[in-house]
Amino acid sequence: MTSARRYDPAAPQYQRTVWWSTAAPRPYTDTLTTDITADIAVIGAGFTGLTAALHLARAGAKVVVLEADAIGAGASGLNAGFVVPNFAKADPAAVIARLGRERGERLLSMIGAGADRVFATIRDHDIACDAEQVGWMHVAHSPAMVEVLARRAEAWRDLGRPVSMLDEASARARSGLKHCVGALLDVSGGMLHPLNYAYGLAGAVTALGGHIYERCPVGRIERAGHGWRLGCGERTVHAEQVLLCTNAFEQGAARRLGRSTVPLTVYQIATQPIDAAIVRRISPQRNPVADTRANLMTYRLDRDNRLISGGMAILPVRAEERMARMIVERLQRELALPETPEAAFVWRGTAAMTTDFLPHLYEFGPGFLGGIGCNGRGIALTAMLGEVMAAAAGGARLQDLPIGLARAGRIPMRMLAVAAPSFAIAQARWQDKQAGL
Ligand SMILES: Cc1cc2nc3c(=O)[nH]c(=O)nc-3n(C[C@H](O)[C@H](O)[C@H](O)COP(=O)(O)OP(=O)(O)OC[C@H]3O[C@@H](n4cnc5c(N)ncnc54)[C@H](O)[C@@H]3O)c2cc1C
Repeated sequence: MTSARRYDPAAPQYQRTVWWSTAAPRPYTDTLTTDITADIAVIGAGFTGLTAALHLARAGAKVVVLEADAIGAGASGLNAGFVVPNFAKADPAAVIARLGRERGERLLSMIGAGADRVFATIRDHDIACDAEQVGWMHVAHSPAMVEVLARRAEAWRDLGRPVSMLDEASARARSGLKHCVGALLDVSGGMLHPLNYAYGLAGAVTALGGHIYERCPVGRIERAGHGWRLGCGERTVHAEQVLLCTNAFEQGAARRLGRSTVPLTVYQIATQPIDAAIVRRISPQRNPVADTRANLMTYRLDRDNRLISGGMAILPVRAEERMARMIVERLQRELALPETPEAAFVWRGTAAMTTDFLPHLYEFGPGFLGGIGCNGRGIALTAMLGEVMAAAAGGARLQDLPIGLARAGRIPMRMLAVAAPSFAIAQARWQDKQAGL
């Protein structure tokens, strides 16, 4: 059942998505009208916070989720729904070089299992979110990138992951992309309806006795006895432990975590549903796709056969209109569509990028942990980040967790880092143009 909400270009970003317009009814949430106590307070009702809360509720903890706005108001309701079990910008070899073999392989095994964990949770809790574990494809646009992807595929296979290479003919037949000379296929990947996934996680939390409070922005967090006192407007929440799962946000309690990353604005569009005959030609097995160009191209289908794609702008001024036009024109060109599709939904969101492109945990005090760093590949990763944070709250030693503990602090020259993606995207477009792409 869908709520058939209408697209309103003046609404907040999370209400402008195709997901909002096609969402299931909202799950039950609570309103904070009195001061409350809990074993564990989770701040943020995105995938990370909801997954952590789900694990904690399953383990019998008294858990509350405090959300400043609404479930899925952050990146979790704004993303494109690609379930991709790897790091966007860190190869297995680079991760091992950085962290050493033992720690590196633990982290890689964790992220590699992320998509399977997402789809297992969906099955376990019967979450209706158009989940399709059809395999994620990474298309090489050049012979050199085939080599790179082949090495990557081998590294994942060494870690026991179901990753293989497709030759040019089958990669082209499965992706429909014009610039395609081969592809990596991870059959554990896939796609889903992200807002319904978040709603389903939330429903599972409350079914297990957890409480989710919306419109509950957490401002101050202070030590109180052996626990913590959290200020939510006029109300106070006392909790033994706190998990900060606020991603790129920087308001109130979220500031200390958000400032540890660089925000990256990502634009998304969804077209009107396209013809079934075109779907059979471009994507007979419905694989979500990304390619290897400097200015990468991604696309997937939703359950109604809308094309969903995205990109990054050089300048933010009037970028939505411009990006929507660029994205649909690119879809038309690359997929040889008979005409340029209409962008029926246009929205943008902020991804949190860490300087090493890896996820991190932060310990802000005894029993007060923050987790961040999905770097644009958050669905598979948050399934594991939430689980790891719940394990820490359950007593696991921080040094034994697969995600490393980082030192809290500001990124030096963050203002420059915030502007860096604009330069990077300008350079990427120029590079692709030079290569005739
Ligand atoms: C446009 C876009 C497209 C993306 N596409 C994909 C994709 O296709 N596949 C993929 O794997 N990843 C994708 N990502 C990344 C992915 O969406 C994120 O990594 C993931 O959703 C992060 O989840 P989260 O729970 O950590 O954060 P969020 O979903 O951002 O949740 C944080 C929550 O904290 C709340 N909050 C903030 N401050 C406070 C406070 N003071 N008090 C209480 N609550 C607070 C916010 O309201 C928000 O609901 C995309 C990201 C963007 C922006």
